Amino acid sequence: MNCNPVGVMGQYDIIIIGAGISGLSLAHYSAKCGLKTLVIEKSDRAGGCFNTQRFESGFWLELGAHTCYNSYRNLLGIIEDCGISDRLIKRENVPFKLLVGGRIKSIFSELNFLELVFSAPRILTLKKKGQSIKSYYSKITGRRNFDRVFSHVLSAVPCQKADDFPADMLFKKRPRRKDVVKKFTLTGGLQTIIDSIAKENGIELLTGIEVKEVEFKNNIFAVTTGDRRRYESRALGLATPPSVAAGLLRDSFPEVSSLLSQIKVTTVESVGVAVRKEAVSFKPVAGIIPTGDSFYSIVSRDAVPDEDYRGFTFHFKPGMDDDAKLRSICKVLGVERRQLDYVVTAKAFMPSPVLGHDRLIKKIDRLIAFKRLVLTGNYFSGLAIEDCVTRSLEEFSRLTTVLGCI
Ligand SMILES: Cc1cc2nc3c(=O)[nH]c(=O)nc-3n(C[C@H](O)[C@H](O)[C@H](O)COP(=O)(O)OP(=O)(O)OC[C@H]3O[C@@H](n4cnc5c(N)ncnc54)[C@H](O)[C@@H]3O)c2cc1C
Repeated sequence: MNCNPVGVMGQYDIIIIGAGISGLSLAHYSAKCGLKTLVIEKSDRAGGCFNTQRFESGFWLELGAHTCYNSYRNLLGIIEDCGISDRLIKRENVPFKLLVGGRIKSIFSELNFLELVFSAPRILTLKKKGQSIKSYYSKITGRRNFDRVFSHVLSAVPCQKADDFPADMLFKKRPRRKDVVKKFTLTGGLQTIIDSIAKENGIELLTGIEVKEVEFKNNIFAVTTGDRRRYESRALGLATPPSVAAGLLRDSFPEVSSLLSQIKVTTVESVGVAVRKEAVSFKPVAGIIPTGDSFYSIVSRDAVPDEDYRGFTFHFKPGMDDDAKLRSICKVLGVERRQLDYVVTAKAFMPSPVLGHDRLIKKIDRLIAFKRLVLTGNYFSGLAIEDCVTRSLEEFSRLTTVLGCI
């Protein structure tokens, strides 16, 4: 077997590794300004944490990201550039519920209102900066309310125990666009955004190809893939989980790599099921959050109602076997296994930042400030889709200055 690269397959202005929303938004900005852009994605499908499963019946289900807001201005800009604004659909206002001791209950039913009333005014003076989720939210909800309810509700967002997360990484205040519905998805699900960016002129996308090595010599980046092909570029964008970026940069950018390797990554194991509407007896919900179970949350398709089906995606804690997951799903939904018309699974990776994360990111940013190395992803200022797109835009602007192309 010949293990040498087969030769240079192509030369680009920028090669981007990873075709999640971070990589593809960076590709969008790059191609829009005329850069010859290659995106290389390990998985057979583009999207990463965007993962809409579409079934032959026409029903679709999100295994990953599900909701966008009218405050996602940069994402909305890309949607407009792609010409798919007419595919935006409103997500209905259905409630989140709790699962307590096997019973579905309202969130309010589990709160101690006296404690909440005494604690809530602290929201006016307390700063999120420098506080963990637990230290910040337990002060404004009350310690018992936090342990009983909010710790679980907030852990449902990043699909992992979030008590030690920096408080300012989860929810951000952003100006809203009044001309767009508050909460939205698109026809065919959020994957529609990914599919549209991937089809844009000037973006070449390779899927099912893992990048194994990155070299930086004589001001040229060389990327070697699992099939021993080599691609070269003037600039490199890394849009993978931080652990992968750390591995790829180990030889060429050891200091950056060492900082990236300090960011922990958590695996999210998701199982989505679709059942006939009449099989499930509880009322429409946006999602269900357990106060102690083998999963962090259930996200429902009820916010975009369908005539025939209801869909539910369970985000499990890692390490449970498939049979136990299905048993747990059937128990919560109150259905038999034969009633699960569609079952689909996925794994996603999410960062697990802790206090001091902002200092780590500042150090990384200082190291790459004048380099043609672009780092983007959901581990910079926040995990939300808009945080990813905003980081890509900021990094792209920095790159254009370094390349001197605008
Ligand atoms: C279950 C879930 C629900 C969520 N819901 C919402 C929501 O409703 N709203 C919201 O705003 N945010 C939501 N988020 C957060 C948001 O979706 C993610 O933070 C964001 O999509 C991450 O995008 P990314 O491109 O940074 O990373 P990813 O989507 O993880 O993409 C990274 C890509 O890099 C690829 N890759 C890795 N290694 C290599 C390699 N060596 N070579 C080539 N490619 C490689 C991966 O295959 C992957 O496709 C959710 C996240 C999850 C997991």
